[in-house]
Amino acid sequence: MTKMMQAAFVTEFGKPLTIGELRVPEPSDMQVLIRIEACGVCHTDVHAVDGDWPGRPTLPFTPGHEGIGRVVAIGKGVKPILGTGVRQLREGDMVGVPWLFEACGFCEYCLTSRENMCPSARYGGYSANGSFAEYCVAPAAYVARIPDGLDAVSAGPIICAGVTTYRGIKGADCKPGDWFVVSGVGGLGHLAIQYAVAMGLRVAAVDVADDKLALATALGATLSFNARAVDPVVAVQETIGGAHGVLITAVSKAAFAQGTGMLRRGGTCVLNGLPPGDFPLSIFDVAFRCLTVRGSLVGTRADMSEALALAAAGKVTAQIERASLGDINNVLERLRTGKVSGRVVLEIAKPLPAN
Ligand code: NAD
Ligand code: ZN
Ligand code: ZN
Repeated sequence: MTKMMQAAFVTEFGKPLTIGELRVPEPSDMQVLIRIEACGVCHTDVHAVDGDWPGRPTLPFTPGHEGIGRVVAIGKGVKPILGTGVRQLREGDMVGVPWLFEACGFCEYCLTSRENMCPSARYGGYSANGSFAEYCVAPAAYVARIPDGLDAVSAGPIICAGVTTYRGIKGADCKPGDWFVVSGVGGLGHLAIQYAVAMGLRVAAVDVADDKLALATALGATLSFNARAVDPVVAVQETIGGAHGVLITAVSKAAFAQGTGMLRRGGTCVLNGLPPGDFPLSIFDVAFRCLTVRGSLVGTRADMSEALALAAAGKVTAQIERASLGDINNVLERLRTGKVSGRVVLEIAKPLPAN
């Protein structure tokens, strides 16, 4: 008999998700089946549902790429690790199904431990069905191993917002004591502040909402600027003489236009946010002030385990609002209008005890 599950899926771009029944997927040889206990809602899900980006997903699809749960079935090709007898994964293991759902393993990026740049990668909740569902299948080689000390709800935001900002900050090549601006204090930004502080950086936060800036201060930002009240470029230059690094997580083209302006000479501006469109960049400014502008897409599996380890050690904790699968359309609408503080995590299947 076919087993059915509850899921929230997209049948038309820009329209509310359908909440209904789908078949529980079966893991192929190299995959595992995960019973999803929790899944964070990322602004990327909004872009996916609205069809914002070039290369839209094929309809219908199930979004969600911060899904965490226990392995309940294992494909027959998922063998013990050679020479050890240790299984790669066992039933009962807690894993996450990330945005980097799968990479090819053979291209120049995969071979140099930059699998997040693999041109053949598939993305969870976008080109592969994601975790706004009670069950999800994923390749055993790419699921995130959730360390002890993190439950499903608290791990959710780390496997996208966490790893993305952790790698983004590393990409700015800053050293302890340097000034670092986090622009956009949403799901990504509020974790970015904590990773930056954990890495010894001095943090200034920029957002357009005072409540987000209050959260930034509570999480360790020493300075904060409301971009609606002041020009953050002027404010950052006048207060600290420009930042060594800037991370843009804001879903706003205006924030990108301000990114390099907030840097000091030789600084690096890393782009995490993905609003559709483009932004102006002064050739003279970039060349004359020796600036670097760098794009950054989620992270590698190594970044993932480092980002999770910092969370499990209590250095980084997502601020979470719990919701249920049936709330998804309301949560997406609140993200569109900047009304979510921290991250909303959907509680889906009831937690199972560890094996
Ligand atoms: P979010 O909605 O939780 O947060 C966005 C924040 O930006 C909000 O706090 C909002 O108030 C703030 N903001 C809006 N306009 C601003 C402005 N002009 N200046 C400063 N702040 C402003 O979104 P999120 O889940 O944190 O995602 C942010 C973006 O990052 C999205 O575009 C998402 O697709 C993208 N993303 C990229 C990657 C990657 O790998 N590069 C990974 C995950 C998410
Ligand atoms: Zn995401
Ligand atoms: Zn590859």
